[in-house]
Amino acid sequence: MRDSARSPVASTALPLVISCEHAGHGVPPDVDLGVASEVRLSQAGWDEGALAIAHIIAAGVGARWQHRATLAAGPSAGVPVVRPRVHAGSYTRLFVDLNRAADHPDCVPSLCYGAVVERNAQLSAAAKQERVDRYHAPYWNAVAAEVAAGLARTGRVLHLSSHSFCPELDPPGRQFDLGVLFDPAHRLEAELADAMIAAARAHGLNVRANAPYSGTGPALCTSLRQRFGAGYAGIELETSHAVVRRADGCATIAAALTDWLAAATAPAPL
Ligand SMILES: [Zn+2]
Repeated sequence: MRDSARSPVASTALPLVISCEHAGHGVPPDVDLGVASEVRLSQAGWDEGALAIAHIIAAGVGARWQHRATLAAGPSAGVPVVRPRVHAGSYTRLFVDLNRAADHPDCVPSLCYGAVVERNAQLSAAAKQERVDRYHAPYWNAVAAEVAAGLARTGRVLHLSSHSFCPELDPPGRQFDLGVLFDPAHRLEAELADAMIAAARAHGLNVRANAPYSGTGPALCTSLRQRFGAGYAGIELETSHAVVRRADGCATIAAALTDWLAAATAPAPL
């Protein structure tokens, strides 16, 4: 384990950005994808539990930030609660996939986890572009703006992107609770991911690095890493559906990460 007392992670303010690209399984009111609702409610449509984990982490980190600030300022200072914002997608990834770049062919997917979206395949290039401009660009711009603001403030940012995976897709290979996806060649990111994995394991979770997916495949974090470089650390959490479907599963994942995250990061000034 790394020595946190000497780690730059613990010694410099680190803004925290939280997002959940596959938070929703709905479609806009004027849209019919021609896909059965049970498909939208499956892994093809969204990441079950990922948004709950993001919100519980944000609430917990905010509470710990406030506690830390109150200790520093004194009990009568009236320190306000500041919690990280959670950027969350509103609609199913079958409509527009917020974890793909705008120019990726699967951004408006014709096929996703075996689910065919024939009406997407039939869209004109102009119609696809209109959908991306209206529903994808604002989300990416909002996350990127918060990252850019954090980098301008401190030179570094930790972006946590919450997802979940389906263990039934590969039962022998997916017998773990949590995947932490990152780029091993990115120094800050690898250091933060190592520390995060150690924190989660210390809470008894079965954690894998860069599983069930690579940390460098097509994703919002990958695109932002390429755009912002060494000061941007983009880490994806992939929680097993086997965990999120337990009554306390999402809270268990959040609890395993919150203390470490709150210690490593700092709120944006009001
Ligand atoms: Zn996802």
